[in-house]
Amino acid sequence: MAGVLADAASCFVPVWRDRHLFREDGQGAASAIFLPADRAEALLASGAETSFLGLRDGVAHFALDLGHLNTPDHAPALAGLGDFADLRRIGPLLPRDEGAILAHARALVHWHGRHRFCGLCGGATRSEQGGHLRRCQTPDCGALHFPRTDPAVIMLVHDGGDRCVLGRQARFPAGMHSTLAGFVEPGESLEDTVVREVHEEVGLRVRDVAYHSSQPWPFPSSLMLGFYAVADADRLRIDPHELESAAWFSRKELEASPENDSFRLPRTDSIARRLISDWLNGLR
Ligand SMILES: [Zn+2]
Repeated sequence: MAGVLADAASCFVPVWRDRHLFREDGQGAASAIFLPADRAEALLASGAETSFLGLRDGVAHFALDLGHLNTPDHAPALAGLGDFADLRRIGPLLPRDEGAILAHARALVHWHGRHRFCGLCGGATRSEQGGHLRRCQTPDCGALHFPRTDPAVIMLVHDGGDRCVLGRQARFPAGMHSTLAGFVEPGESLEDTVVREVHEEVGLRVRDVAYHSSQPWPFPSSLMLGFYAVADADRLRIDPHELESAAWFSRKELEASPENDSFRLPRTDSIARRLISDWLNGLR
């Protein structure tokens, strides 16, 4: 790992406090900025920590944690390259492979920042295995800590016919309606979580819970597991602590979505949108 880290061909993905370096092209697209080894050298010397992300076309890529810098824009190695921004904003503008690399880097850097001390004894931990493990440095503890992923389910509930349930949380962007979702609790199967969350949020009893697909959601460390579930088109009993509103919508209503502040569907790069689109297209 030390050899690859010192290799002049290696590539570094700068991460500053959950933000990535990118450049917008002014035409609605963006690209991530990766640093060549000679640019990263001074940043590594200033104390930036790295995590190995993998090989891309044979080139080693590392996440470069710049959280120790107060003003990264002032670092000579980064001057004039682009701006730091949140992946949630730039994700839809990026090529898919770049989005995946940034998601990996963000999740690892976030995890390192929150596991500097051992949860068992309180001693300091140190990064090992290329940044995929932290080991407690207290001699009679030595506990190993691995990166975490928190599973969450996200589900489109439909009536087996022409209507599905979408809801709104108060924190959503104006007009946005999305599928229901929630975190898996200890001891639950994914199917149990779908049944429980739907019942808690809108009061429906679902059946025929079926897996669709998944999406990493490193904000900060989730994996979204997408499902369909069927419920009778009964009246909803909405939990006001979870949802601002929820309702049954027909395919026709969703296909005619004005996509403005009065009503819009979830962002196009989200699994919620994929679940809705596939249902609209009759794939479910
Ligand atoms: Zn310990």
